[in-house]
Amino acid sequence: VAKRANTGVAMYDASRERGGAERLSLMSELRHAIDHGELRLYYQPKVDLATNAMAHVEALVRWVHPARGMVPPGEFIPFAEQTGFIRSISRWVAGEAIAQCARWHALGLELNVSINLSARDLGADLPDALDALLRRHGLDARWLWVEITESALMDDPAHAIDTLERLHRLGIRLSIDDFGTGYSSLAYLKRMPVSELKIDRSFVMGMTGDADDELIVRSTIALAHNMGLQVAAEGIEDEATLARLRALHCDIAQGYYLSRPLPADKVEGWLREWNEVVAA
Ligand code: C2E
Ligand code: CA
Ligand code: CA
Ligand code: CA
Repeated sequence: VAKRANTGVAMYDASRERGGAERLSLMSELRHAIDHGELRLYYQPKVDLATNAMAHVEALVRWVHPARGMVPPGEFIPFAEQTGFIRSISRWVAGEAIAQCARWHALGLELNVSINLSARDLGADLPDALDALLRRHGLDARWLWVEITESALMDDPAHAIDTLERLHRLGIRLSIDDFGTGYSSLAYLKRMPVSELKIDRSFVMGMTGDADDELIVRSTIALAHNMGLQVAAEGIEDEATLARLRALHCDIAQGYYLSRPLPADKVEGWLREWNEVVAA
């Protein structure tokens, strides 16, 4: 990047317009990042509120940049989505998450793993690519979930449905991320092979202090259950929110109050401690 000087400011501010040369250069930096192992996955636990079991983690990408340190996904994923480079990142994420999940299974930790995908990942080649990765690592497809935002799905729903159907036939499950922030057509939603609605954290974080947010959370839980779907809440930062979600019969909980995203080698220890707390 031409302006890679030590300005200390975020170089990847997604909202900023970039010139052609700068875009090319950021793209080659990202290419380099993939090829040189600078991307890392962190895993955030998802807890089942009915059983208190933690059997699921969501993979979240970070860029460990040699000069800038840990770059959060918000600073390069939007750029990667605009340029189409997201497909290379997603391919890497899928391979890494599936390999890690297979390693956990080999250790006797039967975890489900979710990966985040973007609208541009939903091409006709996605199902075969994921199938090939699952086979290579010997992981049954039922352990793999994909989280796709509501707005990405509604970008071109007629086209998305075909790819989603094929993922579903493989046994991969679909969670609709950031639910409530896009404009879902319920008619499309009903036709999509969805297993989970994931309520956006903007509603969850406000729900104990804002009646409108709580109403949205409550309505989404009812909508999901009426459609026969599991419902998850993200962004739980305190005990009161967790208790309220439990009372509202939300199925799955995720947030800093339960656990921050962890590097893969910290997941087993976290799980052991969690099980001790639950048993006590
Ligand atoms: P997301 O999929 O909605 O992920 C949830 C984000 O909320 C994560 O941020 C997570 O660290 C954060 N979070 C979790 N619990 C809490 C909480 O209690 N409070 C608050 N304030 N935040 C919480 P992160 O890791 O920075 O990821 C941001 C977004 O970047 C993700 O939002 C997702 O849209 C995108 N992203 C991350 N990894 C990938 C990836 O591998 N592929 C794609 N396409 N997008 C990704
Ligand atoms: Ca997600
Ligand atoms: Ca989300
Ligand atoms: Ca989000």
